[in-house]
Amino acid sequence: MDSIDCAVVGAGVVGLAIARELAMAGREVVILEAEGAIGTHTSARNSEVIHAGISYAPGSLRGRLCVAGKAALYAYCEARGIGHRRIGKLIVATEESELPELDRYIALGAPHGVTDLRLIDAAEAHAMEPEVRCVGALHSPSTGIVDSHGLMLALLGDAERHGATLALRTPVVAGEARADGIVLQVGAAIDARVRCRTVINAAGLGAQRVARAIAGMPAEAIPPLHLAVGHYFTLARKSPFNHLVYPTGRDGALRAHVTLDLDGQCKFGPDRDWRDGVDYRFDAARAPAFRAAIRRYYPALRDDDLQPGYTGIRPRLAGPGSSMHNTATDFVIQDAPTHGIDGLVNLFGIESPGLTASLAIGAHVREIAGQRNPTRA
Ligand SMILES: Cc1cc2nc3c(=O)[nH]c(=O)nc-3n(C[C@H](O)[C@H](O)[C@H](O)COP(=O)(O)OP(=O)(O)OC[C@H]3O[C@@H](n4cnc5c(N)ncnc54)[C@H](O)[C@@H]3O)c2cc1C
Repeated sequence: MDSIDCAVVGAGVVGLAIARELAMAGREVVILEAEGAIGTHTSARNSEVIHAGISYAPGSLRGRLCVAGKAALYAYCEARGIGHRRIGKLIVATEESELPELDRYIALGAPHGVTDLRLIDAAEAHAMEPEVRCVGALHSPSTGIVDSHGLMLALLGDAERHGATLALRTPVVAGEARADGIVLQVGAAIDARVRCRTVINAAGLGAQRVARAIAGMPAEAIPPLHLAVGHYFTLARKSPFNHLVYPTGRDGALRAHVTLDLDGQCKFGPDRDWRDGVDYRFDAARAPAFRAAIRRYYPALRDDDLQPGYTGIRPRLAGPGSSMHNTATDFVIQDAPTHGIDGLVNLFGIESPGLTASLAIGAHVREIAGQRNPTRA
């Protein structure tokens, strides 16, 4: 049986960022990816927004890693020529009753050091976004957009330059925690077992399945997985927006954010529904609900303006009936003190802002990956 230092399971943006950090720290790294290419799941099916860090519970990993990741990501994109733009975001209240929610974002951002938010009145919002109807707004200047594929290629390039190896079509199908390391069974293209000193489970939507497949991993330490699908409709004409525009709104209601990509394409979404499996089918019957939600802040939307875009699936740790608010759940990054297996780090529930936070998650995992279980000799 071959022995390696670190196996990173999953080549999405999070696995790649972790692999880069570990390789740059001098560790021997092999990235095990089930698919035939990097970044084909959640990392390719999101809004590509660099989030400011204003939607997460004070002290949460999501909040802390988002803000640290945002700064690291802007610097990395600058240094590596990765497409990005700091275009800013307007959170808009369409009714007076929604104005207090703008203050709530200020209160949520402050503990994580987001202090550049500015309340603006309807006239100023109109000057910034003439097509948007609102009674007041919050401007977040540090929100931006990024080319997620360019980012993943740069992360992989750095990891490989520092000696990491990428193994595609290499799903982890089983494992065993032993005294001499963690033995992984990888299937498909190469049917082999490999002994690892460190295993980073960054399998995204597959993270719970990978954890369950490792004999010795306590079942009670594995959080439930709920698949929350989100749809995006694209705007069939030139974008009238210059910023990202997020309406406030009642919990559970469809809000249909405006996001823009680096080519200026405007899309609306994501909404939220639940799926039983990883199923990216697009439900075009959602168009009327999207139109109604969008017209609350963009009344000029025409009936034939929306065309089906794509879906993405959030690996949520809270299921139907849970709050739509981002503060409801946190990232779970587990090491030996939690589950008792030396060398194993599990990442669960890495939904938004996982893209923004990816570099900070990588640094966090590098710090804990070398630690041993203090309860063992
Ligand atoms: C609708 C939506 C919108 C979002 N918008 C944003 C946003 O605007 N900004 C932001 O910061 N974040 C956003 N996110 C969150 C962000 O996209 C994710 O947090 C991030 O992409 C997660 O990356 P990952 O590497 O953990 O997962 P993934 O990209 O899913 O990668 C996991 C990888 O593991 C592989 N894998 C699975 N099982 C196995 C196995 N057994 N063996 C080997 N490999 C395996 C998969 O094939 C996959 O390649 C959004 C998410 C969604 C769903």
